[in-house]
Amino acid sequence: MKIAVLKEGGAETRVAAIPETVKKFAGLGAAVAVEKGAGEPASISDADFEAAGATTGTRADILKDADLILCVMGPEPGTLKGAKQGALLVGVLDPVRRGEDVAAYAAAGLEAMAMEWMPRITRAQSMDILSSQSNLAGYKAVVDAGSLYGRAFPMMMTAAGTVHPAKAFVMGVGVAGLQAIATARRMGAQVSATDVRSATREQILSLGAKPIFVEGVAGIEGEGKGGYASETSAEYQAAQAELVSGHIAKQDIVITTALIPGRPAPRLISDAQVATMRPGSVIVDLAAEAGGNVEGSKPGETVEVDGVKIIGPANLPSQMAGNASALYAKNLQNLVELLIDDEGNLKVDTEDEVIAGALLTKDGEIVNERAKEAAS
Ligand code: NAD
Repeated sequence: MKIAVLKEGGAETRVAAIPETVKKFAGLGAAVAVEKGAGEPASISDADFEAAGATTGTRADILKDADLILCVMGPEPGTLKGAKQGALLVGVLDPVRRGEDVAAYAAAGLEAMAMEWMPRITRAQSMDILSSQSNLAGYKAVVDAGSLYGRAFPMMMTAAGTVHPAKAFVMGVGVAGLQAIATARRMGAQVSATDVRSATREQILSLGAKPIFVEGVAGIEGEGKGGYASETSAEYQAAQAELVSGHIAKQDIVITTALIPGRPAPRLISDAQVATMRPGSVIVDLAAEAGGNVEGSKPGETVEVDGVKIIGPANLPSQMAGNASALYAKNLQNLVELLIDDEGNLKVDTEDEVIAGALLTKDGEIVNERAKEAAS
């Protein structure tokens, strides 16, 4: 079996394999071919990959006879010319926004699997790129907020006077939010957090932060369906807006991470609420690319409103290319181990719910219902 690892384009700095995963693939009997320069943005040289047992070459060299093609972001279909019929492409293929590309992969006879559509079941946790990358994004959001905040996070008692601790508020306590709470706590801030899912209250407390929850109006019981939130009632949204208004004016740092699968991100902070914050405060809207939790945030930009800086990060994991690549590559390795049979051949078992959930195309057709809708 031959595995090809693509070099990413544009601003993407991550790479889909690291020397450790190359060694692992070689141990499974696979030949690994890495596109020249693929690891450079993540500080991994071609020589590092070669020392781990890979060959390096041009896109055409590595695609020739490859059974499995690994990438981070889905490549332009035209750049995969020369890939063999039935080769399996695995990466973040963004089927909802890039339906035409998925249709083109199918037309080119490629099988395509979207890592972000891996079902969130216990068995698939080690392949869950949403978790591995969101965790890093939650960390980086707090570090970036700290670097723009013109003050310190921890309390400091000095001969010249006391520095008061920063107050940080995390909205949305999923994977990114939990890491944001932990990071802000480690940096010495006083942290509070909120979510619509009632199960997160205990998690917030266990990290030493203060839960701020709407009382008297039902939110989402327990974990929510599959661990995810759904839209809340108008009554809940009004109560949440009031709660936030009272709390946010006292905060120095706000990190928002709230997402609802299949819907635009919920609006949690209005311009009027931003205006109540002290100038110099910093908001990081991790949902900026999904429509934004914060009015006025712009993906890929930092804007200033009434003296408050609002960071709208775009692809934060890519700013931590070393760790993000290592975790992503490990997620892929765990998937590849599931895809290789005892004889060392690639076997895409469509009966397996982990594979079926993420598989988009097969035998020249789009086989996933959600992907079909997006492509039409
Ligand atoms: P997410 O990125 O979809 O959303 C982030 C958070 O925003 C969630 O906690 C959500 O409840 C919250 N949110 C949505 N609307 C909100 C609103 N209006 N106000 C405040 N908060 C709001 O979530 P995620 O980080 O991907 O994960 C959520 C949960 O999924 C995890 O905590 C975990 O329980 C579960 N999970 C399971 C697996 C697995 O079993 N393989 C893997 C990862 C996560």
